[in-house]
Amino acid sequence: MKLPLGNRTGRLLLGSMIVILLSSCTALLNPIVGQSSPHLMLGKPSNATHFNAKDYLIVRSQYVLSYNRDRGIPNWASWQLNQSWLGDLPRASFTADSELPQGWYQVEPNDYTGSGFDRGHLVPAADRNRTESDSRSVFLMTNILPQAPDNNQGPWERLESYCRDKVRQGKELYVIAGGVGEGGSGLKGKRATIGKGKIAVPAALWKIVVVLDRPGSGIESITAQTPVIAVLVPNQQGLKESSWQLYRTSIDAIEQQTGYDFLSNLPEPIQASLEAKKSA
Ligand code: MN
Ligand code: MN
Repeated sequence: MKLPLGNRTGRLLLGSMIVILLSSCTALLNPIVGQSSPHLMLGKPSNATHFNAKDYLIVRSQYVLSYNRDRGIPNWASWQLNQSWLGDLPRASFTADSELPQGWYQVEPNDYTGSGFDRGHLVPAADRNRTESDSRSVFLMTNILPQAPDNNQGPWERLESYCRDKVRQGKELYVIAGGVGEGGSGLKGKRATIGKGKIAVPAALWKIVVVLDRPGSGIESITAQTPVIAVLVPNQQGLKESSWQLYRTSIDAIEQQTGYDFLSNLPEPIQASLEAKKSA
Protein backbone atom coordinates (compact mmCIF):
# COMPACT_ATOMS: atom_id res chain seq x y z
CA MET A 1 0.00 0.00 0.00
CA LYS A 2 1.39 3.39 -1.02
CA LEU A 3 0.72 6.06 1.59
CA PRO A 4 0.37 9.57 0.17
CA LEU A 5 2.09 11.08 3.18
CA GLY A 6 2.59 14.44 1.59
CA ASN A 7 -1.08 15.37 1.79
CA ARG A 8 -3.60 15.95 4.55
CA THR A 9 -5.41 12.63 4.15
CA GLY A 10 -2.12 10.79 4.46
CA ARG A 11 -1.19 12.56 7.65
CA LEU A 12 -4.65 11.89 9.10
CA LEU A 13 -4.33 8.22 8.15
CA LEU A 14 -0.91 7.94 9.77
CA GLY A 15 -2.21 9.81 12.82
CA SER A 16 -5.12 7.42 13.27
CA MET A 17 -2.82 4.42 12.91
CA ILE A 18 -0.62 5.77 15.71
CA VAL A 19 -3.66 6.38 17.91
CA ILE A 20 -4.90 2.84 17.32
CA LEU A 21 -1.46 1.43 18.12
CA LEU A 22 -1.19 3.46 21.33
CA SER A 23 -4.65 2.54 22.54
CA SER A 24 -4.02 -1.16 21.98
CA CYS A 25 -0.80 -0.83 24.01
CA THR A 26 -2.82 0.85 26.81
CA ALA A 27 -5.44 -1.86 26.66
CA LEU A 28 -2.71 -4.49 26.92
CA LEU A 29 -0.73 -2.76 29.65
CA ASN A 30 -3.47 -1.77 32.07
CA PRO A 31 -4.69 -5.18 33.15
CA ILE A 32 -1.04 -6.16 33.67
CA VAL A 33 -0.38 -3.07 35.80
CA GLY A 34 -3.50 -3.85 37.82
CA GLN A 35 -2.65 -7.48 38.38
CA SER A 36 0.91 -6.79 39.43
CA SER A 37 -0.03 -4.31 42.16
CA PRO A 38 -1.33 -5.64 45.48
CA HIS A 39 -3.06 -2.27 45.89
CA LEU A 40 -5.49 -3.08 43.09
CA MET A 41 -6.41 -6.56 44.28
CA LEU A 42 -10.09 -5.60 44.40
CA GLY A 43 -9.99 -3.92 40.97
CA LYS A 44 -9.41 -0.47 39.52
CA PRO A 45 -12.32 1.91 40.28
CA SER A 46 -12.02 3.84 36.99
CA ASN A 47 -10.42 3.33 33.59
CA ALA A 48 -7.38 5.36 34.65
CA THR A 49 -4.54 5.14 32.13
CA HIS A 50 -1.19 6.81 31.44
CA PHE A 51 -2.89 8.61 28.55
CA ASN A 52 -5.77 10.38 30.28
CA ALA A 53 -5.01 13.74 31.93
CA LYS A 54 -8.28 13.68 33.89
CA ASP A 55 -7.87 10.09 35.05
CA TYR A 56 -4.13 9.65 35.08
CA LEU A 57 -2.85 6.39 36.52
CA ILE A 58 0.03 6.61 39.00
CA VAL A 59 1.39 3.26 40.14
CA ARG A 60 3.88 3.23 43.00
CA SER A 61 5.07 0.38 45.19
CA GLN A 62 3.29 2.12 48.10
CA TYR A 63 -0.15 2.70 46.48
CA VAL A 64 -1.99 3.28 43.20
CA LEU A 65 -3.88 6.46 42.46
CA SER A 66 -5.71 8.33 39.75
CA TYR A 67 -4.71 11.98 39.39
CA ASN A 68 -6.69 14.72 37.67
CA ARG A 69 -4.42 17.31 36.02
CA ASP A 70 -7.29 19.74 35.44
CA ARG A 71 -8.44 19.62 39.09
CA GLY A 72 -4.92 19.48 40.58
CA ILE A 73 -6.00 16.70 42.96
CA PRO A 74 -6.25 12.89 43.04
CA ASN A 75 -9.57 11.32 41.97
CA TRP A 76 -8.96 8.24 44.11
CA ALA A 77 -6.22 6.26 45.79
CA SER A 78 -6.17 2.54 46.54
CA TRP A 79 -3.87 0.79 48.99
CA GLN A 80 -3.26 -2.35 50.97
CA LEU A 81 -2.73 -1.95 54.70
CA ASN A 82 -1.23 -4.56 57.01
CA GLN A 83 1.38 -4.51 59.77
CA SER A 84 4.26 -4.68 57.31
CA TRP A 85 3.53 -1.06 56.27
CA LEU A 86 3.49 0.44 59.76
CA GLY A 87 6.55 2.11 61.26
CA ASP A 88 7.35 5.11 63.36
CA LEU A 89 9.30 7.49 61.13
CA PRO A 90 8.57 11.19 61.61
CA ARG A 91 6.44 12.93 59.00
CA ALA A 92 8.19 13.84 55.74
CA SER A 93 7.85 17.22 53.97
CA PHE A 94 5.20 17.93 51.37
CA THR A 95 6.75 18.08 47.89
CA ALA A 96 5.62 18.71 44.33
CA ASP A 97 5.38 15.53 42.23
CA SER A 98 8.14 15.95 39.66
CA GLU A 99 7.22 12.67 37.95
CA LEU A 100 4.11 14.10 36.31
CA PRO A 101 4.23 14.35 32.50
CA GLN A 102 6.20 17.28 31.09
CA GLY A 103 4.24 20.50 30.80
CA TRP A 104 1.72 19.64 33.54
CA TYR A 105 1.41 22.07 36.42
CA GLN A 106 2.96 20.55 39.55
CA VAL A 107 0.97 21.57 42.61
CA GLU A 108 3.26 23.09 45.27
CA PRO A 109 2.79 22.81 49.03
CA ASN A 110 2.59 26.63 49.10
CA ASP A 111 -0.49 26.59 46.87
CA TYR A 112 -2.42 25.59 50.01
CA THR A 113 -0.88 28.22 52.29
CA GLY A 114 -3.51 30.59 53.69
CA SER A 115 -6.33 28.80 51.81
CA GLY A 116 -8.21 27.76 54.94
CA PHE A 117 -7.85 24.09 53.95
CA ASP A 118 -5.48 21.41 55.22
CA ARG A 119 -3.20 19.51 52.88
CA GLY A 120 -5.29 16.36 53.24
CA HIS A 121 -3.65 12.99 52.56
CA LEU A 122 -5.65 10.32 50.76
CA VAL A 123 -3.10 7.65 51.70
CA PRO A 124 -2.39 8.69 55.32
CA ALA A 125 1.11 9.57 56.47
CA ALA A 126 0.90 7.06 59.32
CA ASP A 127 -0.08 4.23 56.92
CA ARG A 128 3.29 4.56 55.17
CA ASN A 129 6.00 5.43 57.70
CA ARG A 130 8.25 2.39 57.77
CA THR A 131 10.86 3.55 55.23
CA GLU A 132 12.00 6.96 54.03
CA SER A 133 10.78 6.28 50.51
CA ASP A 134 7.36 5.12 51.75
CA SER A 135 7.09 8.28 53.80
CA ARG A 136 8.13 10.54 50.93
CA SER A 137 5.62 8.88 48.59
CA VAL A 138 2.59 9.93 50.64
CA PHE A 139 3.81 13.51 50.98
CA LEU A 140 3.84 14.01 47.20
CA MET A 141 1.22 16.63 46.34
CA THR A 142 -0.49 14.21 43.92
CA ASN A 143 -1.73 12.34 47.05
CA ILE A 144 -3.13 15.52 48.60
CA LEU A 145 -6.44 17.39 48.33
CA PRO A 146 -7.87 20.47 50.08
CA GLN A 147 -9.62 19.17 53.18
CA ALA A 148 -11.56 21.21 55.73
CA PRO A 149 -9.51 21.08 58.98
CA ASP A 150 -12.48 19.82 61.02
CA ASN A 151 -13.03 16.96 58.58
CA ASN A 152 -9.33 16.07 58.38
CA GLN A 153 -8.59 16.33 62.10
CA GLY A 154 -11.98 15.01 63.22
CA PRO A 155 -13.91 12.03 61.86
CA TRP A 156 -11.54 11.43 58.94
CA GLU A 157 -8.51 11.08 61.21
CA ARG A 158 -10.43 8.91 63.66
CA LEU A 159 -11.40 6.48 60.90
CA GLU A 160 -7.74 6.33 59.81
CA SER A 161 -6.73 5.48 63.38
CA TYR A 162 -9.52 2.90 63.67
CA CYS A 163 -8.16 1.23 60.53
CA ARG A 164 -4.62 1.08 61.92
CA ASP A 165 -5.98 -0.39 65.16
CA LYS A 166 -7.57 -3.18 63.10
CA VAL A 167 -4.20 -3.73 61.42
CA ARG A 168 -2.42 -3.95 64.79
CA GLN A 169 -4.95 -6.64 65.73
CA GLY A 170 -3.63 -8.62 62.75
CA LYS A 171 -6.15 -7.70 60.02
CA GLU A 172 -5.33 -6.77 56.44
CA LEU A 173 -7.27 -3.90 54.89
CA TYR A 174 -7.92 -2.82 51.33
CA VAL A 175 -8.73 0.88 51.30
CA ILE A 176 -9.97 3.14 48.51
CA ALA A 177 -10.57 6.85 49.10
CA GLY A 178 -11.18 10.02 47.15
CA GLY A 179 -13.04 13.29 46.87
CA VAL A 180 -16.29 14.00 45.05
CA GLY A 181 -18.27 17.07 44.03
CA GLU A 182 -17.46 20.74 43.72
CA GLY A 183 -16.72 23.17 46.53
CA GLY A 184 -16.11 22.81 50.25
CA SER A 185 -15.91 25.11 53.28
CA GLY A 186 -12.68 25.68 55.14
CA LEU A 187 -11.55 28.23 57.73
CA LYS A 188 -12.27 31.10 55.32
CA GLY A 189 -15.64 29.92 54.08
CA LYS A 190 -16.80 28.20 50.92
CA ARG A 191 -14.37 27.79 48.02
CA ALA A 192 -14.70 26.04 44.66
CA THR A 193 -10.93 26.22 44.10
CA ILE A 194 -7.72 27.32 45.81
CA GLY A 195 -4.20 28.03 44.56
CA LYS A 196 -5.26 30.67 42.02
CA GLY A 197 -7.91 28.39 40.58
CA LYS A 198 -5.53 25.51 39.91
CA ILE A 199 -6.76 23.21 42.71
CA ALA A 200 -10.38 22.06 42.96
CA VAL A 201 -11.98 21.71 46.39
CA PRO A 202 -14.19 18.59 46.63
CA ALA A 203 -17.58 18.78 48.34
CA ALA A 204 -17.06 15.53 50.27
CA LEU A 205 -14.51 12.82 50.92
CA TRP A 206 -15.38 9.14 50.68
CA LYS A 207 -13.63 6.00 51.85
CA ILE A 208 -14.22 2.28 51.42
CA VAL A 209 -12.46 -0.32 53.60
CA VAL A 210 -12.58 -4.10 53.14
CA VAL A 211 -11.35 -5.99 56.20
CA LEU A 212 -9.62 -9.36 55.76
CA ASP A 213 -8.94 -11.61 58.75
CA ARG A 214 -5.25 -12.01 58.07
CA PRO A 215 -2.57 -10.77 55.66
CA GLY A 216 -2.18 -12.70 52.44
CA SER A 217 -5.54 -14.46 52.63
CA GLY A 218 -6.30 -13.09 49.17
CA ILE A 219 -9.38 -12.22 47.18
CA GLU A 220 -10.70 -15.81 47.44
CA SER A 221 -11.17 -15.29 51.19
CA ILE A 222 -13.72 -12.51 50.63
CA THR A 223 -17.34 -13.55 51.12
CA ALA A 224 -20.67 -11.75 51.47
CA GLN A 225 -19.96 -11.76 55.23
CA THR A 226 -16.62 -9.90 54.95
CA PRO A 227 -16.81 -6.64 56.93
CA VAL A 228 -16.79 -3.46 54.86
CA ILE A 229 -16.79 0.18 55.90
CA ALA A 230 -18.05 2.97 53.65
CA VAL A 231 -18.23 6.64 54.62
CA LEU A 232 -19.01 9.92 52.89
CA VAL A 233 -17.90 12.94 54.96
CA PRO A 234 -18.82 16.51 53.93
CA ASN A 235 -15.77 18.71 53.28
CA GLN A 236 -16.74 21.38 55.75
CA GLN A 237 -16.15 22.85 59.19
CA GLY A 238 -18.23 22.19 62.29
CA LEU A 239 -17.93 18.40 62.40
CA LYS A 240 -14.66 18.00 64.29
CA GLU A 241 -16.28 16.27 67.25
CA SER A 242 -18.51 13.99 65.15
CA SER A 243 -17.73 10.29 65.13
CA TRP A 244 -16.84 8.75 61.75
CA GLN A 245 -19.69 6.30 62.25
CA LEU A 246 -22.13 9.17 61.72
CA TYR A 247 -21.12 9.25 58.03
CA ARG A 248 -21.55 5.57 57.23
CA THR A 249 -23.21 4.75 53.95
CA SER A 250 -23.19 1.90 51.42
CA ILE A 251 -20.62 1.29 48.68
CA ASP A 252 -23.54 1.44 46.23
CA ALA A 253 -24.23 5.02 47.33
CA ILE A 254 -20.58 5.98 46.74
CA GLU A 255 -20.63 4.30 43.32
CA GLN A 256 -23.69 6.38 42.43
CA GLN A 257 -22.07 9.64 43.57
CA THR A 258 -18.71 9.05 41.91
CA GLY A 259 -19.60 6.95 38.86
CA TYR A 260 -16.83 4.48 39.82
CA ASP A 261 -17.13 0.71 40.02
CA PHE A 262 -15.53 -0.59 43.22
CA LEU A 263 -14.68 -4.20 44.07
CA SER A 264 -14.92 -5.06 40.35
CA ASN A 265 -12.54 -8.03 40.73
CA LEU A 266 -14.99 -9.78 43.06
CA PRO A 267 -17.56 -12.24 41.70
CA GLU A 268 -20.78 -10.36 40.91
CA PRO A 269 -22.98 -11.89 43.69
CA ILE A 270 -20.40 -11.12 46.42
CA GLN A 271 -19.74 -7.67 44.98
CA ALA A 272 -23.45 -6.83 44.89
CA SER A 273 -24.00 -8.06 48.41
CA LEU A 274 -21.04 -6.17 49.94
CA GLU A 275 -21.96 -2.99 48.06
CA ALA A 276 -25.60 -2.96 49.09
CA LYS A 277 -25.12 -3.50 52.79
CA LYS A 278 -24.92 -0.68 55.29
CA SER A 279 -21.34 -0.14 56.36
CA ALA A 280 -20.05 -1.97 59.48
MN1 MN B 1 -5.31 13.70 57.16
MN1 MN C 1 -18.75 -2.44 42.08
